[in-house]
Amino acid sequence: MPVRVGIPRALLYYYYYPMWKEFLQQLGAEVVVSDRTTKGILTKGVQHCVDEACLPVKLAFGHVGNLANKNVDYIFLPRMVSVAQGEYICPKFLGFPDMIKQNIKGLPPVIDSVINLRNKPQDINNFTKEVGSHFNKGKLKAWLAYRRAMAVHKQYTQLLEQGLMPDEALSVLEGRTKPVDDRETDLTVAVIGHPYNIYDPFISMNIINKLRKAGARVLTADNLTEQVVNQGAKRLPKKLFWTLSKRMTGGALNYHDQRSVDGIIHVAAFACGPDSMTGELIERFIRREGKVPFMNVNLDEHTGEAGIVTRLEAFLDMVRWRRTAV
Ligand code: SF4
Repeated sequence: MPVRVGIPRALLYYYYYPMWKEFLQQLGAEVVVSDRTTKGILTKGVQHCVDEACLPVKLAFGHVGNLANKNVDYIFLPRMVSVAQGEYICPKFLGFPDMIKQNIKGLPPVIDSVINLRNKPQDINNFTKEVGSHFNKGKLKAWLAYRRAMAVHKQYTQLLEQGLMPDEALSVLEGRTKPVDDRETDLTVAVIGHPYNIYDPFISMNIINKLRKAGARVLTADNLTEQVVNQGAKRLPKKLFWTLSKRMTGGALNYHDQRSVDGIIHVAAFACGPDSMTGELIERFIRREGKVPFMNVNLDEHTGEAGIVTRLEAFLDMVRWRRTAV
């Protein structure tokens, strides 16, 4: 019987799930993912998590709780410190495995090896070796598994850069669908936000699909290459050392400067420090130059769907009106 490892459908799942899945499978594990977000999962997360945490962390608590009922041998929660040289991930990721172990009792063992590439990319070897040891795999086998996982990650990233959303890219990777985009659209909107906010249909109130149904093509910062994002971020007077904030800001400024979108929507989560700063930065740049209409949407566990629908409809009406008026 293979060892069953659970991955929560939360936080950096939207960036790294295909890679982590491949890595763990290459090590001989069976991968189990938590269910799609529901009201029940969110409620459980809110109950177990501290009040001060941001919405995505509360939701991630709910997903870990959901995995605990799936008969898994381990829960995979890498301790994310840095995924790029000279940059950091929000400190909540660093403390997340400890918060989980402290607050949810009776969980299966947690694999919480550290990912810290701030100094040099080769530091990933410590992570692969440590994870491999849970499956009785030596250093070389673990490294080969990781190398295979990196190849999958590259394919996944390329699919995102072709304009697909994570679910669609995953479906193509798994051979379930082909990458086709035959939707009728009359305008393009960029949705900028942390991946766990914009791609989770429940927590985002399905913003991406609502915009698509209303006739818009939707792009996110993840549909841009690293190089293009970095170019956009160069407009900032100082380098942002938070990887995800840099991606969001660089993506938004690039879409704005190139006028490759008709409107930009920034999605922020309640109680997120980085979001309040990046949201402000993006808004100031865009409003100062005024080339593209901009709207801020804040999410919390009480956000009502009707309010979001009204705001999206009004925003699209305004974008369409502006296009005919200028
Ligand atoms: S960046 Fe914001 S939303 Fe993401 S984990 Fe940190 S505080 Fe939470």
